[in-house]
Amino acid sequence: MPEKTIFQKIADREIPGEIVYEDEQCLCFRDIRAQAPVHLLLVPKKLVVRIGEAEPADQDLLGHLMTRVRHIAEQEGFADAGFRVVINNGSHGGEAVPHLHLHILAGRQLGWPPG
Ligand code: AMP
Repeated sequence: MPEKTIFQKIADREIPGEIVYEDEQCLCFRDIRAQAPVHLLLVPKKLVVRIGEAEPADQDLLGHLMTRVRHIAEQEGFADAGFRVVINNGSHGGEAVPHLHLHILAGRQLGWPPG
């Protein structure tokens, strides 16, 4: 068995996470180094390493993640004010954890372009 990613360990309750949403396919928890008043990570339970390596067979799972964003935004109360969804991919993208995750950032005016 390959070593679990840190996000698989959070899903399996082996390390703590402040989980705000969970279903059979995905988990959403607060980023430990928040870059905004609200900074959530939405992660598939099945390991997809990064968006740049997603397979056609991952289509339904990726669609599920994207449509769960609305639910989470409404649940957490930032849907109306607005928010940003970010996926970092690979070295130049700033990816640190090789387990696909959507950053959901909210709670302040976000700048553009990103750094
Ligand atoms: P990325 O740079 O896109 O791979 O993002 C990885 C994110 O995971 C960073 O924003 C980290 O702060 C976050 N992170 C790393 N370890 C944990 C953890 N144990 N709990 C919550 N967030 C974490």
